[in-house]
Amino acid sequence: MTDPLSLPGWRHAYSGKVRDLYLPADLPEGATAGRMLVVASDRVSAFDHVLAPGVPGKGALLTALSLWWFDRLAGGDGGRRIPNHLAADHVLGADDDAHSLIPDAVAGRAMVVRGLDMQPVECVVRGYLTGSGWAEYRESGTVCGIRLADGLGNGDRLPEPIFTPAYKAPLGEHDENISFAQTVELVGAERASELRDLSLEIYARAAATAEARGLILADTKFEFGLDAEGVMTLADEVLTPDSSRYWDAAAWAEGATPEARMASFDKQIVRDWLAAAWVPREGTPPELPADVVERTTARYAELLERLTS
Ligand code: ATP
Ligand code: MG
Repeated sequence: MTDPLSLPGWRHAYSGKVRDLYLPADLPEGATAGRMLVVASDRVSAFDHVLAPGVPGKGALLTALSLWWFDRLAGGDGGRRIPNHLAADHVLGADDDAHSLIPDAVAGRAMVVRGLDMQPVECVVRGYLTGSGWAEYRESGTVCGIRLADGLGNGDRLPEPIFTPAYKAPLGEHDENISFAQTVELVGAERASELRDLSLEIYARAAATAEARGLILADTKFEFGLDAEGVMTLADEVLTPDSSRYWDAAAWAEGATPEARMASFDKQIVRDWLAAAWVPREGTPPELPADVVERTTARYAELLERLTS
């Protein structure tokens, strides 16, 4: 993948497709990390492949949006406080604040977080039918084993949002849609219900925020982990255009075709180009052309602007 950066105070621990994780440099090998640095790169992934080139400014944009959403979900939207992984005072030293722990080289695209015991489930919520949900529905009339009404089309709104978890595959493997029963097998009944209820609650709050800004939050994916006190805590990135599908509400209401309805502010531009230019999952994907990179940058920036201003 890409070379990890050498960051003062931190040592590289892990690189995912898009983000790089660092642990405190002075943490003894094998010890549990109280705090971690999550750095969002400009890398873009689609169909579980990292593509070249990156999208300039994407890491900063995703970080800004995640922080904005964490704040709203902490009560900024008037709802109850959803616990999140941003570093709390008790994992910081006496004389450091989270900001001062972020090296200049990654300023604007890094978060100091609490290291959590991550749950192996990607908590997907869908309010609309498209993507892998639409593919499964066309085959079997179900999404993650949930039977839906007949006659739904690509991009249709569901009668109510549904929790459609995926098994978080180890790096290099593909995430896989699973049923709620399989989720129970993975994490136990109590945690599975907690993950589902939290995910549906956060989706509903975020969708309402988006709707007030003329945007549809079609679907999204959350990741949760347990903190040191055993509290189920919202982690990773949240409600970004990498983890969510955002559509223009006016275009959806008026659009005559599925394509016109799903005017995306997310990674769909990249997915659509790639699906036409390459047989997904075969060999190395081709380079993204400059205009696809530019359109993606512009749409991501427009999303941030529309949501946060
Ligand atoms: P992709 O998101 O493209 O499927 P990925 O999930 O393998 O790839 P990234 O999203 O690039 O990787 O990297 C972020 C990683 O950090 C994920 O594995 C995520 O579960 C983990 N992570 C996020 N927040 C925390 C946290 N607070 N504590 C521990 N791990 C975390
Ligand atoms: Mg991820």
